[in-house]
Amino acid sequence: MIVTRVHVITHGCQMNEYDTHTITSELVAGGHELAPSPADANLIILNTCAVRGKPVEKVTTMLGEYRKEKLAGRDLTVGMMGCLAQLDEGQTLAKKFGVDILVGPGAITDILAAIESVETRGESFWSLDFKDDLHSYLTPAPNTLTGFLTIMRGCNHNCTYCIVPQTRGPEVSRSLESILHEARAMQASGVQEIYLLGQNVNSYGLGRPDLPSFAELLRRIAATGIPRVKFTTSHPMNFTSDVIDVLAQEPNVCKYIHLPVQSGSDRVLRRMAREYRRDRYLDIIAEIKAKIPDVVISTDMIVGFPGETEEDFEATLTLYEEVQYDTAYMFMYSARPGTPSHKHFDDMPRAVKTERLGRLIERQKHWSNVRNGRWVGRNLRVLIKEPATDSSFVVGHSDQNHTVLVPKEQVSAMGLYTVRVDTATPHTLYGTVAGQQTEAIPLMMAS
Ligand code: SAM
Ligand code: SF4
Repeated sequence: MIVTRVHVITHGCQMNEYDTHTITSELVAGGHELAPSPADANLIILNTCAVRGKPVEKVTTMLGEYRKEKLAGRDLTVGMMGCLAQLDEGQTLAKKFGVDILVGPGAITDILAAIESVETRGESFWSLDFKDDLHSYLTPAPNTLTGFLTIMRGCNHNCTYCIVPQTRGPEVSRSLESILHEARAMQASGVQEIYLLGQNVNSYGLGRPDLPSFAELLRRIAATGIPRVKFTTSHPMNFTSDVIDVLAQEPNVCKYIHLPVQSGSDRVLRRMAREYRRDRYLDIIAEIKAKIPDVVISTDMIVGFPGETEEDFEATLTLYEEVQYDTAYMFMYSARPGTPSHKHFDDMPRAVKTERLGRLIERQKHWSNVRNGRWVGRNLRVLIKEPATDSSFVVGHSDQNHTVLVPKEQVSAMGLYTVRVDTATPHTLYGTVAGQQTEAIPLMMAS
Protein backbone atom coordinates (compact mmCIF):
# COMPACT_ATOMS: atom_id res chain seq x y z
CA MET A 1 0.00 0.00 0.00
CA ILE A 2 1.28 3.51 -0.78
CA VAL A 3 0.87 5.81 2.20
CA THR A 4 0.30 9.38 1.09
CA ARG A 5 -2.28 10.90 3.41
CA VAL A 6 -1.31 11.02 7.05
CA HIS A 7 -3.25 12.20 10.09
CA VAL A 8 -1.65 12.45 13.55
CA ILE A 9 -3.88 12.45 16.66
CA THR A 10 -2.11 13.98 19.65
CA HIS A 11 -2.85 13.18 23.29
CA GLY A 12 -1.06 14.42 26.40
CA CYS A 13 1.39 17.21 27.04
CA GLN A 14 3.07 19.93 24.99
CA MET A 15 6.10 17.69 24.46
CA ASN A 16 3.79 15.46 22.45
CA GLU A 17 2.52 18.45 20.48
CA TYR A 18 6.11 19.31 19.66
CA ASP A 19 6.81 15.70 18.63
CA THR A 20 3.73 15.80 16.40
CA HIS A 21 5.14 18.90 14.68
CA THR A 22 8.48 17.15 14.27
CA ILE A 23 7.00 14.02 12.77
CA THR A 24 4.68 15.94 10.44
CA SER A 25 7.68 18.03 9.25
CA GLU A 26 9.52 14.78 8.45
CA LEU A 27 6.46 13.41 6.66
CA VAL A 28 5.97 16.52 4.53
CA ALA A 29 9.69 16.61 3.72
CA GLY A 30 9.35 12.96 2.67
CA GLY A 31 6.62 13.77 0.16
CA HIS A 32 3.55 12.75 2.16
CA GLU A 33 0.40 14.80 2.49
CA LEU A 34 -1.25 15.72 5.77
CA ALA A 35 -4.90 14.64 5.85
CA PRO A 36 -7.29 17.07 7.57
CA SER A 37 -9.17 14.29 9.40
CA PRO A 38 -8.72 10.61 10.28
CA ALA A 39 -11.43 9.72 7.75
CA ASP A 40 -9.33 11.24 4.91
CA ALA A 41 -6.13 9.45 5.88
CA ASN A 42 -4.58 6.15 4.91
CA LEU A 43 -2.06 6.38 7.74
CA ILE A 44 -3.30 7.37 11.20
CA ILE A 45 -0.66 7.88 13.88
CA LEU A 46 -1.72 8.01 17.52
CA ASN A 47 0.65 10.15 19.59
CA THR A 48 -0.03 8.66 23.02
CA CYS A 49 0.24 9.60 26.70
CA ALA A 50 0.92 7.06 29.46
CA VAL A 51 1.07 9.29 32.53
CA ARG A 52 -2.35 8.27 33.84
CA GLY A 53 -4.74 5.38 33.13
CA LYS A 54 -7.40 7.42 31.31
CA PRO A 55 -5.41 8.37 28.20
CA VAL A 56 -4.37 4.72 27.87
CA GLU A 57 -8.02 3.65 27.90
CA LYS A 58 -8.75 6.23 25.16
CA VAL A 59 -6.01 4.89 22.91
CA THR A 60 -7.18 1.31 23.49
CA THR A 61 -10.68 2.24 22.30
CA MET A 62 -9.33 3.99 19.20
CA LEU A 63 -7.06 1.09 18.29
CA GLY A 64 -10.04 -1.26 18.61
CA GLU A 65 -12.05 0.90 16.21
CA TYR A 66 -9.27 1.08 13.60
CA ARG A 67 -8.80 -2.68 13.85
CA LYS A 68 -12.49 -3.19 13.10
CA GLU A 69 -12.33 -0.81 10.10
CA LYS A 70 -9.30 -2.64 8.70
CA LEU A 71 -11.06 -5.99 9.08
CA ALA A 72 -14.02 -4.48 7.25
CA GLY A 73 -11.70 -3.69 4.33
CA ARG A 74 -10.50 -0.09 4.92
CA ASP A 75 -7.08 0.58 3.38
CA LEU A 76 -5.43 1.89 6.54
CA THR A 77 -2.00 1.80 8.18
CA VAL A 78 -1.96 2.48 11.93
CA GLY A 79 1.01 3.97 13.77
CA MET A 80 1.68 4.57 17.44
CA MET A 81 4.16 7.02 18.97
CA GLY A 82 4.50 8.83 22.32
CA CYS A 83 5.07 7.53 25.83
CA LEU A 84 2.79 4.49 25.64
CA ALA A 85 4.70 3.18 22.61
CA GLN A 86 7.83 2.91 24.76
CA LEU A 87 6.21 0.66 27.38
CA ASP A 88 5.47 -3.07 27.45
CA GLU A 89 1.87 -2.06 28.11
CA GLY A 90 1.73 -0.16 24.79
CA GLN A 91 3.55 -2.86 22.85
CA THR A 92 1.11 -5.49 24.09
CA LEU A 93 -1.76 -3.30 22.86
CA ALA A 94 0.04 -2.74 19.55
CA LYS A 95 0.35 -6.48 19.00
CA LYS A 96 -3.24 -7.13 20.02
CA PHE A 97 -4.65 -4.53 17.62
CA GLY A 98 -2.22 -5.09 14.73
CA VAL A 99 -0.43 -1.71 14.85
CA ASP A 100 1.82 -1.44 11.77
CA ILE A 101 4.28 1.26 12.90
CA LEU A 102 5.49 1.83 16.44
CA VAL A 103 8.09 4.52 17.21
CA GLY A 104 9.13 5.49 20.75
CA PRO A 105 9.66 9.13 21.83
CA GLY A 106 13.38 8.91 21.00
CA ALA A 107 12.86 7.38 17.55
CA ILE A 108 10.32 9.56 15.77
CA THR A 109 12.77 10.53 13.04
CA ASP A 110 12.54 6.87 11.91
CA ILE A 111 9.06 7.55 10.54
CA LEU A 112 10.04 7.65 6.85
CA ALA A 113 11.97 4.38 7.17
CA ALA A 114 8.94 2.93 8.93
CA ILE A 115 6.58 3.90 6.10
CA GLU A 116 9.03 2.55 3.53
CA SER A 117 9.16 -0.78 5.38
CA VAL A 118 5.36 -1.08 5.44
CA GLU A 119 5.01 0.03 1.80
CA THR A 120 7.77 -1.91 0.13
CA ARG A 121 8.08 -5.03 2.23
CA GLY A 122 4.64 -5.18 3.80
CA GLU A 123 6.40 -5.52 7.15
CA SER A 124 5.43 -3.76 10.35
CA PHE A 125 8.17 -1.50 11.79
CA TRP A 126 9.04 -0.92 15.44
CA SER A 127 11.79 1.36 16.74
CA LEU A 128 12.40 2.10 20.40
CA ASP A 129 15.94 3.50 20.23
CA PHE A 130 16.88 6.78 21.81
CA LYS A 131 18.83 8.63 19.14
CA ASP A 132 21.62 10.75 20.60
CA ASP A 133 20.79 13.85 18.64
CA LEU A 134 17.67 15.71 19.54
CA HIS A 135 16.07 16.74 16.30
CA SER A 136 14.82 20.18 15.35
CA TYR A 137 11.37 21.10 14.22
CA LEU A 138 12.47 23.66 11.69
CA THR A 139 9.44 24.27 9.53
CA PRO A 140 6.81 25.91 11.72
CA ALA A 141 3.35 25.44 10.28
CA PRO A 142 2.00 28.55 8.55
CA ASN A 143 -0.04 30.86 10.81
CA THR A 144 1.66 29.56 13.95
CA LEU A 145 1.96 32.26 16.59
CA THR A 146 3.18 30.04 19.43
CA GLY A 147 6.25 27.93 18.74
CA PHE A 148 7.02 25.01 21.05
CA LEU A 149 10.75 24.42 21.33
CA THR A 150 12.07 21.34 23.14
CA ILE A 151 15.36 22.19 24.85
CA MET A 152 15.88 18.84 26.56
CA ARG A 153 14.50 15.35 26.64
CA GLY A 154 13.97 12.90 29.51
CA CYS A 155 14.09 13.13 33.28
CA ASN A 156 16.67 12.18 35.91
CA HIS A 157 14.21 12.40 38.80
CA ASN A 158 12.45 9.26 39.89
CA CYS A 159 9.18 10.38 41.42
CA THR A 160 7.66 7.10 42.58
CA TYR A 161 4.32 7.63 40.82
CA CYS A 162 5.71 8.66 37.44
CA ILE A 163 6.28 6.63 34.29
CA VAL A 164 8.08 9.39 32.36
CA PRO A 165 11.70 8.43 33.24
CA GLN A 166 10.97 5.04 31.63
CA THR A 167 9.25 6.41 28.55
CA ARG A 168 11.50 9.37 27.79
CA GLY A 169 14.80 8.13 29.20
CA PRO A 170 17.48 10.12 31.05
CA GLU A 171 17.98 13.86 30.59
CA VAL A 172 19.69 14.99 27.39
CA SER A 173 20.12 18.71 26.70
CA ARG A 174 20.17 20.06 23.17
CA SER A 175 23.05 22.22 21.99
CA LEU A 176 22.73 25.98 22.39
CA GLU A 177 23.36 26.46 18.65
CA SER A 178 20.51 24.19 17.57
CA ILE A 179 18.10 25.81 20.05
CA LEU A 180 19.00 29.34 18.93
CA HIS A 181 18.85 28.30 15.28
CA GLU A 182 15.35 26.94 15.78
CA ALA A 183 14.27 30.01 17.78
CA ARG A 184 15.42 32.30 14.95
CA ALA A 185 13.63 30.15 12.35
CA MET A 186 10.45 30.47 14.38
CA GLN A 187 10.90 34.22 14.73
CA ALA A 188 11.46 34.59 10.97
CA SER A 189 8.26 32.64 10.28
CA GLY A 190 6.16 35.07 12.37
CA VAL A 191 6.03 33.22 15.70
CA GLN A 192 5.30 35.72 18.50
CA GLU A 193 5.76 33.44 21.50
CA ILE A 194 8.36 30.74 22.09
CA TYR A 195 7.47 28.08 24.64
CA LEU A 196 10.59 26.26 25.88
CA LEU A 197 9.79 22.67 26.78
CA GLY A 198 11.31 19.94 28.88
CA GLN A 199 10.20 17.64 31.72
CA ASN A 200 12.46 19.62 33.98
CA VAL A 201 13.79 22.67 32.12
CA ASN A 202 15.77 23.93 35.08
CA SER A 203 18.16 20.99 34.69
CA TYR A 204 19.15 22.23 31.23
CA GLY A 205 22.93 21.94 30.81
CA LEU A 206 23.53 20.37 34.23
CA GLY A 207 26.80 18.42 34.18
CA ARG A 208 27.64 19.81 30.72
CA PRO A 209 30.36 22.49 31.01
CA ASP A 210 29.95 23.18 27.27
CA LEU A 211 26.34 24.35 27.78
CA PRO A 212 24.97 27.43 29.52
CA SER A 213 22.70 27.18 32.57
CA PHE A 214 18.94 27.40 32.06
CA ALA A 215 19.01 31.02 33.31
CA GLU A 216 21.66 31.92 30.71
CA LEU A 217 19.74 30.08 28.01
CA LEU A 218 16.63 32.09 28.87
CA ARG A 219 18.60 35.33 28.49
CA ARG A 220 19.91 34.20 25.10
CA ILE A 221 16.40 33.41 23.86
CA ALA A 222 15.12 36.71 25.25
CA ALA A 223 17.91 38.52 23.38
CA THR A 224 16.49 37.33 20.03
CA GLY A 225 13.80 39.97 20.62
CA ILE A 226 10.89 37.54 20.27
CA PRO A 227 7.93 39.28 21.99
CA ARG A 228 7.34 36.49 24.49
CA VAL A 229 9.26 33.64 26.07
CA LYS A 230 7.56 31.06 28.30
CA PHE A 231 8.80 27.76 29.64
CA THR A 232 7.57 24.59 31.31
CA THR A 233 8.01 22.46 33.42
CA SER A 234 10.05 23.60 36.38
CA HIS A 235 11.01 21.26 39.21
CA PRO A 236 11.29 22.96 42.62
CA MET A 237 14.50 21.04 43.32
CA ASN A 238 16.37 22.77 40.49
CA PHE A 239 14.56 26.11 40.56
CA THR A 240 17.37 28.53 41.29
CA SER A 241 17.45 32.24 42.17
CA ASP A 242 19.19 33.12 38.90
CA VAL A 243 16.08 31.97 36.97
CA ILE A 244 13.87 34.18 39.15
CA ASP A 245 16.25 37.09 38.44
CA VAL A 246 15.92 36.57 34.66
CA LEU A 247 12.12 36.72 34.93
CA ALA A 248 12.38 39.87 37.03
CA GLN A 249 14.82 41.58 34.65
CA GLU A 250 13.94 40.53 31.08
CA PRO A 251 10.76 42.26 29.87
CA ASN A 252 9.96 39.61 27.24
CA VAL A 253 10.33 36.62 29.60
CA CYS A 254 6.77 36.12 30.82
CA LYS A 255 5.97 36.58 34.49
CA TYR A 256 4.33 33.17 34.68
CA ILE A 257 5.73 30.19 36.57
CA HIS A 258 4.38 26.65 36.63
CA LEU A 259 5.94 25.05 39.69
CA PRO A 260 4.46 21.62 40.48
CA VAL A 261 4.33 20.87 44.21
CA GLN A 262 2.31 17.58 44.07
CA SER A 263 1.55 17.58 47.83
CA GLY A 264 1.75 19.89 50.85
CA SER A 265 2.69 17.06 53.21
CA ASP A 266 6.35 16.25 53.86
CA ARG A 267 5.43 12.64 54.58
CA VAL A 268 3.79 12.28 51.16
CA LEU A 269 6.57 14.20 49.40
CA ARG A 270 9.06 11.74 50.90
CA ARG A 271 7.02 8.74 49.71
CA MET A 272 6.77 10.34 46.28
CA ALA A 273 10.58 10.81 46.30
CA ARG A 274 10.19 14.50 45.54
CA GLU A 275 13.53 15.88 46.72
CA TYR A 276 12.26 19.10 48.38
CA ARG A 277 10.05 19.65 51.41
CA ARG A 278 7.17 22.03 52.09
CA ASP A 279 9.34 24.72 53.75
CA ARG A 280 11.82 24.81 50.90
CA TYR A 281 8.99 25.07 48.37
CA LEU A 282 7.40 27.95 50.30
CA ASP A 283 10.79 29.73 50.46
CA ILE A 284 11.02 29.59 46.65
CA ILE A 285 7.47 30.97 46.34
CA ALA A 286 8.32 33.81 48.75
CA GLU A 287 11.40 34.73 46.73
CA ILE A 288 9.42 34.67 43.47
CA LYS A 289 6.70 36.92 44.89
CA ALA A 290 9.22 39.34 46.41
CA LYS A 291 11.18 39.73 43.17
CA ILE A 292 8.37 39.63 40.58
CA PRO A 293 5.34 41.81 41.35
CA ASP A 294 2.14 40.54 39.69
CA VAL A 295 3.65 37.15 38.96
CA VAL A 296 1.20 34.36 38.11
CA ILE A 297 1.92 30.97 39.65
CA SER A 298 0.35 27.61 38.84
CA THR A 299 1.05 24.10 40.06
CA ASP A 300 0.31 20.38 39.68
CA MET A 301 -1.16 18.46 42.61
CA ILE A 302 -1.89 14.78 43.08
CA VAL A 303 -4.58 13.73 45.55
CA GLY A 304 -5.00 10.25 46.99
CA PHE A 305 -1.38 9.18 46.72
CA PRO A 306 -1.10 5.77 48.48
CA GLY A 307 -1.11 6.21 52.24
CA GLU A 308 -2.21 9.87 52.09
CA THR A 309 -4.08 10.51 55.37
CA GLU A 310 -6.72 13.14 55.95
CA GLU A 311 -4.04 15.12 57.80
CA ASP A 312 -1.68 14.88 54.79
CA PHE A 313 -4.43 16.04 52.48
CA GLU A 314 -5.22 18.97 54.77
CA ALA A 315 -1.55 19.97 54.53
CA THR A 316 -2.07 20.24 50.76
CA LEU A 317 -5.12 22.45 51.36
CA THR A 318 -3.23 24.74 53.76
CA LEU A 319 -0.35 24.99 51.30
CA TYR A 320 -2.86 26.13 48.69
CA GLU A 321 -4.08 28.85 51.08
CA GLU A 322 -0.51 29.97 51.77
CA VAL A 323 0.57 30.18 48.13
CA GLN A 324 -2.79 31.37 46.74
CA TYR A 325 -2.13 29.86 43.34
CA ASP A 326 -3.60 31.52 40.28
CA THR A 327 -4.51 28.08 39.01
CA ALA A 328 -3.69 24.41 39.47
CA TYR A 329 -3.80 21.17 37.49
CA MET A 330 -5.19 18.62 39.92
CA PHE A 331 -5.05 14.86 39.44
CA MET A 332 -6.32 11.81 41.26
CA TYR A 333 -3.42 9.43 41.78
CA SER A 334 -3.39 6.84 39.00
CA ALA A 335 -1.42 3.66 39.72
CA ARG A 336 0.75 3.09 36.65
CA PRO A 337 2.23 -0.38 36.10
CA GLY A 338 6.01 -0.17 36.12
CA THR A 339 6.27 2.67 38.65
CA PRO A 340 7.68 2.12 42.18
CA SER A 341 4.47 3.31 43.86
CA HIS A 342 2.43 0.78 41.87
CA LYS A 343 4.81 -1.97 42.91
CA HIS A 344 5.20 -1.13 46.59
CA PHE A 345 2.09 0.72 47.76
CA ASP A 346 -1.62 -0.11 47.84
CA ASP A 347 -3.97 2.18 45.96
CA MET A 348 -6.67 3.81 48.07
CA PRO A 349 -10.43 3.65 47.48
CA ARG A 350 -11.57 5.74 44.52
CA ALA A 351 -14.34 7.32 46.60
CA VAL A 352 -11.74 8.87 48.95
CA LYS A 353 -9.74 10.23 46.03
CA THR A 354 -12.86 11.66 44.37
CA GLU A 355 -13.99 13.35 47.57
CA ARG A 356 -10.57 14.93 48.15
CA LEU A 357 -10.27 16.07 44.55
CA GLY A 358 -13.66 17.78 44.89
CA ARG A 359 -12.50 19.67 47.98
CA LEU A 360 -9.28 20.72 46.30
CA ILE A 361 -11.07 21.93 43.16
CA GLU A 362 -13.36 23.99 45.37
CA ARG A 363 -10.30 25.84 46.82
CA GLN A 364 -8.78 26.21 43.36
CA LYS A 365 -11.96 27.85 42.06
CA HIS A 366 -12.05 30.16 45.05
CA TRP A 367 -8.45 31.31 44.65
CA SER A 368 -8.56 31.49 40.84
CA ASN A 369 -11.57 33.76 41.20
CA VAL A 370 -9.76 35.99 43.69
CA ARG A 371 -6.52 36.05 41.71
CA ASN A 372 -8.20 36.63 38.33
CA GLY A 373 -10.38 39.34 39.90
CA ARG A 374 -7.24 41.43 40.59
CA TRP A 375 -6.92 42.10 36.85
CA VAL A 376 -10.36 43.65 36.38
CA GLY A 377 -9.92 47.25 35.21
CA ARG A 378 -6.28 46.68 34.22
CA ASN A 379 -4.61 46.17 30.84
CA LEU A 380 -3.00 42.92 29.78
CA ARG A 381 -1.06 42.06 26.63
CA VAL A 382 -2.89 39.23 24.91
CA LEU A 383 -1.87 37.05 21.97
CA ILE A 384 -5.17 36.49 20.16
CA LYS A 385 -4.94 33.21 18.30
CA GLU A 386 -8.33 31.86 17.22
CA PRO A 387 -12.10 31.99 17.36
CA ALA A 388 -13.44 30.88 20.74
CA THR A 389 -15.87 27.99 21.22
CA ASP A 390 -18.53 30.66 21.71
CA SER A 391 -18.36 32.10 18.20
CA SER A 392 -19.10 35.67 19.33
CA PHE A 393 -15.61 35.80 20.90
CA VAL A 394 -11.99 35.28 19.94
CA VAL A 395 -9.55 33.76 22.41
CA GLY A 396 -5.92 34.17 23.35
CA HIS A 397 -3.50 34.10 26.26
CA SER A 398 -2.04 36.93 28.29
CA ASP A 399 1.67 37.26 29.00
CA GLN A 400 0.81 35.72 32.37
CA ASN A 401 -0.95 32.81 30.64
CA HIS A 402 -4.56 33.72 31.47
CA THR A 403 -7.16 32.61 28.94
CA VAL A 404 -8.66 35.86 27.65
CA LEU A 405 -11.78 36.32 25.50
CA VAL A 406 -12.70 39.47 23.56
CA PRO A 407 -15.70 40.13 21.29
CA LYS A 408 -14.84 39.00 17.77
CA GLU A 409 -15.92 42.25 16.09
CA GLN A 410 -13.08 44.06 17.90
CA VAL A 411 -10.39 41.99 16.19
CA SER A 412 -9.61 41.52 12.51
CA ALA A 413 -6.30 39.68 12.74
CA MET A 414 -4.50 37.29 15.03
CA GLY A 415 -1.67 38.88 16.95
CA LEU A 416 -0.75 40.82 20.06
CA TYR A 417 -3.27 43.24 21.54
CA THR A 418 -3.63 45.36 24.63
CA VAL A 419 -6.82 44.22 26.33
CA ARG A 420 -8.61 45.94 29.20
CA VAL A 421 -10.08 43.30 31.52
CA ASP A 422 -13.81 43.84 32.20
CA THR A 423 -14.80 40.71 34.12
CA ALA A 424 -13.15 37.62 35.53
CA THR A 425 -14.24 34.05 36.23
CA PRO A 426 -12.06 31.32 37.79
CA HIS A 427 -11.00 30.11 34.33
CA THR A 428 -11.35 33.06 32.00
CA LEU A 429 -10.90 36.82 31.73
CA TYR A 430 -13.25 38.81 29.48
CA GLY A 431 -11.99 42.08 28.04
CA THR A 432 -12.16 44.90 25.51
CA VAL A 433 -9.44 45.65 22.98
CA ALA A 434 -7.61 48.81 24.01
CA GLY A 435 -4.94 48.74 21.30
CA GLN A 436 -3.24 46.58 18.72
CA GLN A 437 0.47 45.79 18.99
CA THR A 438 1.11 43.50 16.02
CA GLU A 439 -1.08 42.44 13.12
CA ALA A 440 0.36 39.05 12.45
CA ILE A 441 -2.06 36.95 10.48
CA PRO A 442 -5.63 37.42 9.22
CA LEU A 443 -8.10 35.80 11.55
CA MET A 444 -10.00 32.87 10.06
CA MET A 445 -13.43 33.20 11.57
CA ALA A 446 -15.52 30.12 12.10
CA SER A 447 -18.77 30.72 10.29
N1 SAM B 1 8.11 16.90 35.02
C1 SAM B 1 7.02 17.59 35.52
C2 SAM B 1 7.12 17.70 37.03
O1 SAM B 1 7.82 16.97 37.68
O2 SAM B 1 6.46 18.52 37.57
C3 SAM B 1 5.67 17.03 35.17
C4 SAM B 1 5.53 15.86 34.27
S1 SAM B 1 4.08 14.90 34.46
C5 SAM B 1 3.93 14.35 32.83
C6 SAM B 1 2.75 16.04 34.64
C7 SAM B 1 1.99 15.86 35.90
O3 SAM B 1 1.26 14.66 35.85
C8 SAM B 1 2.82 15.73 37.16
O4 SAM B 1 3.27 16.96 37.65
C9 SAM B 1 1.88 15.03 38.11
O5 SAM B 1 1.11 15.96 38.85
C10 SAM B 1 0.97 14.26 37.17
N2 SAM B 1 1.21 12.82 37.28
C11 SAM B 1 2.29 12.12 36.90
N3 SAM B 1 2.14 10.81 37.18
C12 SAM B 1 0.91 10.68 37.75
C13 SAM B 1 0.16 9.59 38.28
N4 SAM B 1 0.67 8.36 38.29
N5 SAM B 1 -1.07 9.83 38.78
C14 SAM B 1 -1.60 11.07 38.79
N6 SAM B 1 -0.93 12.14 38.32
C15 SAM B 1 0.31 11.96 37.81
FE1 SF4 C 1 7.89 12.50 36.38
FE2 SF4 C 1 9.03 13.49 38.58
FE3 SF4 C 1 10.39 13.46 36.28
FE4 SF4 C 1 8.31 15.12 36.57
S1 SF4 C 1 10.24 15.15 37.76
S2 SF4 C 1 8.74 13.82 34.79
S3 SF4 C 1 6.93 13.94 37.82
S4 SF4 C 1 9.74 11.68 37.44
